[in-house]
Amino acid sequence: MDPIPARVTDADVLELVDVLLEDVDEAPEEPPARRPWLPTALIGLGAVLVIAASSTAVIAAFRQSATAERVTATSRLADAYQDALYTATVEQSLERAVRLTDDPELLGWHRDAGSSLDQALTEVETVGTAADVELVERVRERHDAYTTLIPVGLGSGPRADAADRLAVEASEDVQDLLSEASQARYREADAIRESAASSARTTATAQAVAVGVLLLVLVAAALLALAWWHRLRREKVRSQHRALHDELTELPNRLVLQDRVEQALLVGRREGGVTALIVLDLDRFKEINDSLGHDYGDLLLQQIGPRLRRELRESDTVGRLGGDEFAVILPRISGVDGAMVVAEKLARALEEPFVVNGMSLAVEASVGVAVAPDHGDDVRTLLQRADIAMYVAKDNKLGVSSYDSSVDGHSPARAALLGDLRRAISERELSLHFQPKTDLVSGALQGVEALVRWQHPTQGLLSPDAFVPLAERTGLVHSLTRFVLDSALAQCRAWYDQGLELPVAVNLSTRTLLDRGFGDEVKARLAYWKLPPRLLTLEITESALMGDPARAAELLGELADQGVRLSIDDFGTGYSSLSSLRTLPVHELKIDRSFVRDMLTSPQDASIVRAIVDLGHTLGLTVVAEGVEDEPTARELSRLGCDLGQGYHLGMPTTARRLLGDMGPVGVWAPRPSPPVDLP
Ligand code: C2E
Ligand code: CA
Ligand code: CA
Repeated sequence: MDPIPARVTDADVLELVDVLLEDVDEAPEEPPARRPWLPTALIGLGAVLVIAASSTAVIAAFRQSATAERVTATSRLADAYQDALYTATVEQSLERAVRLTDDPELLGWHRDAGSSLDQALTEVETVGTAADVELVERVRERHDAYTTLIPVGLGSGPRADAADRLAVEASEDVQDLLSEASQARYREADAIRESAASSARTTATAQAVAVGVLLLVLVAAALLALAWWHRLRREKVRSQHRALHDELTELPNRLVLQDRVEQALLVGRREGGVTALIVLDLDRFKEINDSLGHDYGDLLLQQIGPRLRRELRESDTVGRLGGDEFAVILPRISGVDGAMVVAEKLARALEEPFVVNGMSLAVEASVGVAVAPDHGDDVRTLLQRADIAMYVAKDNKLGVSSYDSSVDGHSPARAALLGDLRRAISERELSLHFQPKTDLVSGALQGVEALVRWQHPTQGLLSPDAFVPLAERTGLVHSLTRFVLDSALAQCRAWYDQGLELPVAVNLSTRTLLDRGFGDEVKARLAYWKLPPRLLTLEITESALMGDPARAAELLGELADQGVRLSIDDFGTGYSSLSSLRTLPVHELKIDRSFVRDMLTSPQDASIVRAIVDLGHTLGLTVVAEGVEDEPTARELSRLGCDLGQGYHLGMPTTARRLLGDMGPVGVWAPRPSPPVDLP
């Protein structure tokens, strides 16, 4: 099965970016501002007030019209009384005039006045209440008495005089009753009018107050709602900012960078322009972080963005990819050369020391440049290629480098895997399996070889062949080797603490031989884990040794001096000369598994195996056969005098924990008698 994924298309990348951006939209936001209860309560109160104010207005209107009716009725009644009173007065005056002149016309008028009074009283009865009807009855009684007495009074004599007096009294009674009643009715109408006016005033005041309060409530509710809306907006903006920016440096994060590159690429495609992506990785950051602490590291990282900005145009973007890695997008640039000029400027800007807490810190950066469309025209490819260029720069101590397709296996899928591998190393997706090296005679476990594995998030468990050669093309293999070395030593230390002295072998890449600091690094890691150097074996392939024999001799000498054991891996495939074998300080030869595999069927391979065993023993080396897959092969190897075997038949590569179970009880692990094992 080919572990390398099929070619990654632009559509895949766009989809990825879309998914990433979707994630931003869906990024867990701050819990939204709680729906404010106060404006809602105020609006409720406002509504209650509106209902109250309008219903009082309606009631007041009803009451006013009822009052007006009552006033009209009462006034009409009062007027009727007044009319009656007037006619009664006129009647009495006419009666006096009749007495003086005895004019028959006046007498007629007097009678008319009487009937006018009657009409007026009828009117009172019509408009008035039961009390008025009663009063009218009394008035009529008195008036009847008056009209009855008048003819008697017109005569002479004491009877006439008495009748006159009584008639006057009756007439006065009539007038008094009517006058009182009319006054009373007028007063009543006034009182009704007055009380109506005062209740109208109260209603008006209450309404004015209600309207005022209502306005206040509405204004308050509006203000509160406005404040709430502002808060919501602010929170939304803030959470968007958080999703899109790096927390420590406040610079745009990887997601935004990807989006901006995408935008720049779109514009570039339309206008036929060039977009550059520059990746910067600080060279001494880890040292600063380790020696001075994370606070210093953080403060330093915060200064990088502004320092880079200084050298850039407004339209350029600076962001943080993570860790000590930054990226710069130049959306419009003349070409690779123009981008390289900017990249050099950025590298120089970072060379100026940074002052952190009064301390002057020097960092340098390795800078990689990739441009679209020359090096790729989708975000992912461009980022990977800028990355590869950066690794080339770092590896060759170039400072700045632009992407060179000859360094990268020409395959976007491989480049994609490379990008993933960088993350895998930093996020510990890598792990080690251990495969036993056993004594072919006694079957005792003599050591283990550490074999790296990558638990890829989508591709599953990957074997080193899928990614180690890739890592070797860039400086990434150094981080990989460092990881494997350190993890293997950690495991060795764990076994050591359980009373097991189990030597571990770690594979070195060809490029490790060129790494000047590697000897010191091994020393430092052994010291860190407090392990005797003889428990570490380093395996170097024969072809790697032959690539640069002088440098190999130098490093191997350095390592052997420390007491580390050295093994030549895949022996038999690299045409090493006998003389170089003699001069190199190696301890072990591993016969390449291609010879072991067919040694029972191919006499040629069998004789190569025998020759290697003999050669190894002649040089005083331990000989290990790789790829021992069955019992007959193991027996034949043992018969040829091969010391150790490694292969599926003797033990599969497995996790440290399973290894113990697979190998049975610890007691069968016989320590190797020679060379003697000295404990520190
Ligand atoms: P190698 O150094 O020759 O490692 C032995 C390889 O042979 C391992 O493959 C192992 O699983 C496989 N093997 C063991 N027994 C048998 C057997 O009986 N038959 C067959 N056909 N194969 C057997 P693996 O783990 O896939 O590693 C492949 C190569 O990757 C290694 O070859 C080594 O060159 C490289 N490698 C592994 N781990 C590392 C590492 O940590 N760093 C570096 N630089 N290279 C590594
Ligand atoms: Ca090996
Ligand atoms: Ca090998």
